[in-house]
Amino acid sequence: MSDIQAKMRETAKDLLEKGEIKYVIGWEKGRFPNQSPPAFITSPEDANRLAWDDYCLAGTSKYLLDDKFPEGKIGVFVRGCDSRGVNRLIQDNQVKRENVYLIGIPCAGKKDPDTGEMAKKCRECTHPNPVVFDVLLGEKVPETDKPERFNDVIALEQKSPDEKYEYWAKQFDKCIRCYACRNVCPACNCRECFVDQYQVGWQGKQNNRAENQVFGLTRAYHIADRCVECGECERVCPMGLPLMELNRKLIKDLNELFGPYESGVDLEVKPPLGFYKNDDPDEYM
Ligand code: SF4
Ligand code: SF4
Repeated sequence: MSDIQAKMRETAKDLLEKGEIKYVIGWEKGRFPNQSPPAFITSPEDANRLAWDDYCLAGTSKYLLDDKFPEGKIGVFVRGCDSRGVNRLIQDNQVKRENVYLIGIPCAGKKDPDTGEMAKKCRECTHPNPVVFDVLLGEKVPETDKPERFNDVIALEQKSPDEKYEYWAKQFDKCIRCYACRNVCPACNCRECFVDQYQVGWQGKQNNRAENQVFGLTRAYHIADRCVECGECERVCPMGLPLMELNRKLIKDLNELFGPYESGVDLEVKPPLGFYKNDDPDEYM
């Protein structure tokens, strides 16, 4: 058993026994050796179900939305990506910081269950260590080799407008509008998503290029300055859409327009599209 896994179990057991948390969200082994799905541990005896191995890929923060008004604190195991997701939910007034107990785990990356190689979202990770936590398990991972976030976007920007349209149209043709990308996303935290407002009719029911583009592009703009780059949307997409290329194109544009910005890293830094300044540099102001 790994040191971290033993510490996870011990910490969860202790917190549950003392009644400091109501339950804890982590990972456990499921039916398949190459998968470690999320786990919800509600009693000290069950703490031994917790697992920490190469396949703890799923994000933990989004589940906090299912219990927005908890009777006690919720324990959450957070890596860098999860901790940014928690910050996202706090900044969007979906979760209160005092309602969560964050157990930080530095993470050097997880494996793709299909290939056994490091998962794409982990190869692209810029914050392997939790950015916020109440207790940290293990030593921090070195952060010296940060990947270049915008390489894919820069390559796409070289294409002509027609080529870009063709590229994205073909991607959206594949989308089956399962909404898995939205469901897993900590930035997609509206009480009612625009696609579910059928009476208003923002989103048509047909599965065709136009309707798929309405969904994909509207979602991208909705989360443009709030995406924490966890890569979960792309990971869960069953049709393999390169959603991070779209997310990072908007993030790159925002960085160029408003200065360097990474969502969910610092609670004190507001999303650039989420507030206004009287001395806004834009001419129309
Ligand atoms: S997860 Fe993929 S297929 Fe499903 S709605 Fe999102 S983009 Fe479309
Ligand atoms: S859009 Fe994708 S990468 Fe960004 S926060 Fe949502 S799930 Fe994570």
